[in-house]
Amino acid sequence: MVAGDEGVLRRSPQAPDLLRLHEAVATLFATQGDWRRAYQHLRSALDIARDGSLRDALTSSYNRRYLDERLYGPFADRQPGPLAIALVDLDRFKRVNDTYGHLVGDRVLRRVADLLQEELPPEGFCARYGGEEFVLWLPGVDAGHAVRIVEAARVRVARHPWSELQPGLRVTISAGLAHEGPAVPERQLRSADDLLYAAKRAGRNKVAYQDAQSTRLITHSE
Ligand code: GH3
Ligand code: MG
Ligand code: MG
Repeated sequence: MVAGDEGVLRRSPQAPDLLRLHEAVATLFATQGDWRRAYQHLRSALDIARDGSLRDALTSSYNRRYLDERLYGPFADRQPGPLAIALVDLDRFKRVNDTYGHLVGDRVLRRVADLLQEELPPEGFCARYGGEEFVLWLPGVDAGHAVRIVEAARVRVARHPWSELQPGLRVTISAGLAHEGPAVPERQLRSADDLLYAAKRAGRNKVAYQDAQSTRLITHSE
């Protein structure tokens, strides 16, 4: 068993207990007529609740709502700089659930999320896009650097000592990577999806991306 993975759901960085504490203290100050302090604690509670609403409960990575805000919200990213978006999908994950059970599957998802979040560029983030799919948002990096980041993540997952979690367990990911400079996030997400399927078709455990000069599809394998 891997230490730290035992809980069914992960606590968000700021646990709900702290939210309740702020609420309780705000109520106490309100009953004393100290509205300024009551307001401060309600603000803190609101910040914690907002952060929690943008996190995935299983993996603590950002969630689809956060990603959608970055894509379509009023403060959606429209910066002129380059952006790489990778769509990552676990390979044959249904088999992991079928063979080892859903609790082990959940632990695998948490561990993969951790591995994906290592070595992201400043302002980069990982979001759980859906079931066993994640988005890596990589701003301010050129195409070659983006490929190295995603390829390194693929290798980290492939080489992780999964058998320590369950004897015989192996886990790999496939990824589609779309790079643009300047960023066009919605179109990039669609391209990343197409490329992900190309990586799957090419045999899985691969990163697929399009070369800047040509539309040649390049895949890597271990
Ligand atoms: P492929 O390589 O083509 O992606 O195959 P796959 O088996 O990974 O894909 P498929 O779409 O057939 O299965 C995805 C599985 O992911 C099925 C679903 O039960 C599992 N899954 C999705 N969300 C969760 C979750 O939160 N926990 C667990 N344990 N499993 C999940
Ligand atoms: Mg999938
Ligand atoms: Mg899958």
